[in-house]
Parts: sequence; structure tokens; C-alpha cells
Amino acid sequence: MGATTVYRCPQCGYVTDEIDEGPGLFSPVAYKAFVCQDCLRVVCKQTDDNWNLREDDHECNYCHGTNLVPWEDDRCPRCHSEMQWECVGLWD
Ligand SMILES: [Zn+2]
Ligand SMILES: [Zn+2]
Repeated sequence: MGATTVYRCPQCGYVTDEIDEGPGLFSPVAYKAFVCQDCLRVVCKQTDDNWNLREDDHECNYCHGTNLVPWEDDRCPRCHSEMQWECVGLWD
């Protein structure tokens, strides 16, 4: 069971894309949010069983850079303010 979430920064107004988080119940595919250090966006990527980026899919969706780090503090990648999140859907 996972949730589709959008994060919004109250400070600078940055809004993430819709992010699917959590492993699917009926599918082995897991998603996780990463921060691209090149363009400072949050991107959602498929991961392997260990929550690591897959070798064949480890580029930023936007700039195709490979400096992706796990997004763990839920803070804005641009101004480091705490972001507010909003659930926009559930999936399983
Ligand atoms: Zn911000
Ligand atoms: Zn990027």
C-alpha cells in the first residue's frame, strides 16, 4: 500500500511532482523519493529490493544528472525549509 503525495515549500513555493511512496502490495516495484543535487528537484524513482536506485534507471527525470541522493529529511531541496505535504491519492 502506498500513497501519492505532493510536497510544497511554504518558504520558496517549490512544489514537487506527485510522489508515489511505499512498496506496492501486489507488485515488487518500490518507489522512493530522491533529491537531484544538480537541479535541486525531488524526483521519484523505482528502487531495487534494498531501496537503492536501479542501475538501469538512476538518472534525474529532469536534467538526467546522476547526483541523486535519498530524500530523507522532507526538507525543501532549495531552501531547506520544512515542507508541507498533501496526500493526493492511495494505491495498492
Ligand atoms: Zn523552499
Ligand atoms: Zn536533476
